[in-house]
Amino acid sequence: MDAVAAKPIGASFSSSEGNHAAYRGLTPQTTAFDIDGVVADTMRLFISIARESFQIDHLRHEDITSYNLEDCLDLKPEIIVAVIEQIIAGTHTPPLHPMAGCCASLARFGQDGHTIRFVTARPEAGVIRDWLENNLPLARRQIEVVATGSFEAKAHVLKDAGVHYFVEDRLETCFLLSRAAITPILFAQPWNRYPHPFREVASWEEIASMMAP
Ligand SMILES: [Mg+2]
Repeated sequence: MDAVAAKPIGASFSSSEGNHAAYRGLTPQTTAFDIDGVVADTMRLFISIARESFQIDHLRHEDITSYNLEDCLDLKPEIIVAVIEQIIAGTHTPPLHPMAGCCASLARFGQDGHTIRFVTARPEAGVIRDWLENNLPLARRQIEVVATGSFEAKAHVLKDAGVHYFVEDRLETCFLLSRAAITPILFAQPWNRYPHPFREVASWEEIASMMAP
């Protein structure tokens, strides 16, 4: 972990984001989560679909060094599109798994019956909402999903909901959120290994350690 990542999250709030209430840890009221690449292991599903539907065996998770898959994977663009279509439509055969540690941490976050907010840039919430309901240890009524259809629309949705902290794996979105005074927490993935000024977490255990007691 580098010096930036090791910076206590409260430090950045008091200096650059004085409009936030005093930081006492992440709470369900002030925090929201991206889904793909944070809660759902979507890139591993991508690799599984490519193998199963298109007999492409050479892809590895570490090879996905850019969020723009055409930039980092030796795949025909039409195959990338076809795999993503399966993911969005939920028509894939291989299962989409939760990220390691995610369920235990979200169970703790939702233990008092709080609603947990998820904001995705997917075009529609239905398929991923069903997946969240079926895979997370939360009651149906505790799961709120907003599908923005674009990365740019996330900041607006989060601000309207009173969210201050957002866990996200797309670095470009972290910069967009930061400019809108939402504090991003970057979930480390092979596709976001670039310099940035944000708090970074490498696991759900680390997110859990930031939750208010
Ligand atoms: Mg994501």
